[in-house]
Amino acid sequence: MLVGGGLIGSSIAFELASQNLQVALLDARQPGREASWAAAGMLSPGPDSPQASPLVPLARESFRLYPDFVRAIENESGISVAFASPGALEIFAGADAAERRDELIAKCKNLGLSAELLSIDSAISMEPALNPNSSAVAWLPDEATVDPRQLIIGTLSGAKKRGVEIFPGHAVSALLGSTSGCTGVLAADQKIFAKHVVIAAGSFCAGIDENSSGSPFGISRYAPTHPVRGQMLALRSPKVTLQKVLRSHHGYIVPRADGRIIAGSTLENVGFVKETTQEGRRQIFDAAVALAPALAGAEIVETWAGLRPGTPDQLPIIGPTDIPGLLIATGHYRNGILLAPVTAKLICDWILEGKTNFNAETFSPLRFAATTSKSKLSRSIPAAS
Ligand SMILES: Cc1cc2nc3c(=O)[nH]c(=O)nc-3n(C[C@H](O)[C@H](O)[C@H](O)COP(=O)(O)OP(=O)(O)OC[C@H]3O[C@@H](n4cnc5c(N)ncnc54)[C@H](O)[C@@H]3O)c2cc1C
Repeated sequence: MLVGGGLIGSSIAFELASQNLQVALLDARQPGREASWAAAGMLSPGPDSPQASPLVPLARESFRLYPDFVRAIENESGISVAFASPGALEIFAGADAAERRDELIAKCKNLGLSAELLSIDSAISMEPALNPNSSAVAWLPDEATVDPRQLIIGTLSGAKKRGVEIFPGHAVSALLGSTSGCTGVLAADQKIFAKHVVIAAGSFCAGIDENSSGSPFGISRYAPTHPVRGQMLALRSPKVTLQKVLRSHHGYIVPRADGRIIAGSTLENVGFVKETTQEGRRQIFDAAVALAPALAGAEIVETWAGLRPGTPDQLPIIGPTDIPGLLIATGHYRNGILLAPVTAKLICDWILEGKTNFNAETFSPLRFAATTSKSKLSRSIPAAS
């Protein structure tokens, strides 16, 4: 059973259902309309901060799995998810621009990722919309994009076609269990039993504890996620046909197949508030225009915000807990669209084989759980009946 029907939960459900397992997916609201709906859709295996370096092997593995993952979803659902490999240009400004570009290129190469120095003229011939006043550019050829909304619609549809039962409006408020393990969940006043429960509720995981009546089970011991708001704009301009992802320290622009240009984003700790702000919209628009000046007159056709599932160490939480039957797949922060295929594979391996060949210890849910939870479990989980 999957708790949460964002891209992470639905990708796991999609994979599990291919193994002839009976799979249920419960979502508090309409599946697929939280962080996964809000994303830009960049598939960028490079580290976006120093803390993200341990993520690179996992990101590269997921990137490798992406073409097959997309093919399976498109074949099953009949929905195109606009997977493309345009590459990205990373733009640097300021006096130390060349130095920072060289640092990025060296770091990528050390991590086994392709990155090349590019003159401004060569960069403009690749992407005519690029600001000619850019100081330095790095070319990152191994970057892809996908339309995250099409992807989540396709994954949910494919999962359903494979037999997954999807229950919208089923907020999980407690786990069921005994000392021998987790045996199901309490959702919408119903006890629903399952051999395996996978918590994939994104930034809302820790909130499952708060919703629990009586003694809380303690999901936040394994999945202490918090929301990190990201605001976004969709732009349209007859003057700009963007080919590649353009990115700077201040923001990014991403081409969509329908001609829209997606511009992002902010990183804000404001709790579970999903509204955009005037300041956020202005900041994103200015960053987009700095990358591609012809966007100055662009029409803003949509604005929205989403809540990234952040974690204390900015790394995802993927794997079994020390409670038999309970697994976690969350905390994908800024990379959940990229990491969906590998997360689905790891969780399937653990459920089906009891192990995985990929060394994912860094991402274990047990890294946050200081003490064994079994004694707590016997006291606090409502008994299955
Ligand atoms: C602005 C923005 C831009 C981004 N851009 C990118 C990008 O370019 N590339 C990339 O790789 N990643 C990107 N991300 C990150 C990515 O979107 C997330 O990491 C990913 O979507 C997380 O997926 P999820 O399924 O874990 O969470 P979500 O999509 O948030 O899904 C969680 C689901 O759980 C459900 N739920 C919550 N509580 C309960 C409960 N108690 N019971 C049952 N269900 C529950 C919710 O209703 C929701 O449907 C971006 C995120 C944002 C916000």
